[in-house]
Amino acid sequence: ATPTAVMVGTGVGASQGVLIKGGQALESAHKVNCIVFDKTGTLTIGKPVVVNTRLLKNMVLREFYELVAAAEVNSEHPLAKAIVEYAKKFREEEENPSWPEARDFVSITGRGVKAIVQNKEIIVGNKSLMVDHNIAIPVDAEEILAEAEGLAQTGILISIDGEVTGVLAISDPLKPGAQEVISILKAMKVRSIMVTGDNWGTANSIAKEVGIETVIAEAKPEQKAEKVKELQASGDTVAMVGDGINDSPALVAADVGMAIGAGTDIAIEAADIVLMKSNLEDVITAIDLSRKTFSRIR
Ligand code: ADP
Ligand code: MG
Repeated sequence: ATPTAVMVGTGVGASQGVLIKGGQALESAHKVNCIVFDKTGTLTIGKPVVVNTRLLKNMVLREFYELVAAAEVNSEHPLAKAIVEYAKKFREEEENPSWPEARDFVSITGRGVKAIVQNKEIIVGNKSLMVDHNIAIPVDAEEILAEAEGLAQTGILISIDGEVTGVLAISDPLKPGAQEVISILKAMKVRSIMVTGDNWGTANSIAKEVGIETVIAEAKPEQKAEKVKELQASGDTVAMVGDGINDSPALVAADVGMAIGAGTDIAIEAADIVLMKSNLEDVITAIDLSRKTFSRIR
């Protein structure tokens, strides 16, 4: 392609809300044969909501949520925001309720949070987080988790003073049109893979729903990047699509990093292409544009 064609290509992209940072990004996109998708906020809407609460101990729901919200209000994670939002339902009289004070707040990436609230140790997160703290997971909690995962929901465990006290089910539905995007990519001879920090059960259910066969779950940020490199080593030209801080190493590693416009600044900076409208269809727009600019046949 001539420099003019590349300029035209990036211009057309920009007019459609596909921000291409330079000619190299536009060129690489036409060779892409494999796309690694993040799950949360990329394939899914990214605005999770609590859909179920199950208490395993005799406790008043409102008091349970006071403790959980007090810990989670300190976290920026979308799951934390969903939990705090839900907790507000028990404090309807106040618009912006103040939660009990939390001491010694710690956020554990990819696992959850813990804090001391009203002299109780509150731990909110996944199974690994409980295992890390030597907290036993009762059989009924395991069952509730499995049920949630089967419904493509994320199950979150809450431990109070070392005992699993409740399980929350949080739902983050697929973006509209996500299935179609994956099937069009297939028709374009582009393979799709999903990587996520979420657990295997939920990840597999979402992947099945969207039509992705290859899944890597419980992945740390570095593992997302490693997967990209592994695919490249086997000869693939890889695009990564993501929205989070945890996707930025993989966005950098990919031949073409594509960030969701509504994502975090760090992901947007790490990417070569920004999908300003946050539409998954624009993954196709970008590849199409590159194919049209760079292949002589068209
Ligand atoms: P993803 O790659 O899907 O965006 P993350 O790596 O951010 O996911 O988180 C992985 C998992 O860690 C979540 O599915 C959840 O089980 C747990 N987790 C992380 N942060 C929190 C939090 N603030 N509260 C509860 N659970 C959390
Ligand atoms: Mg994400």
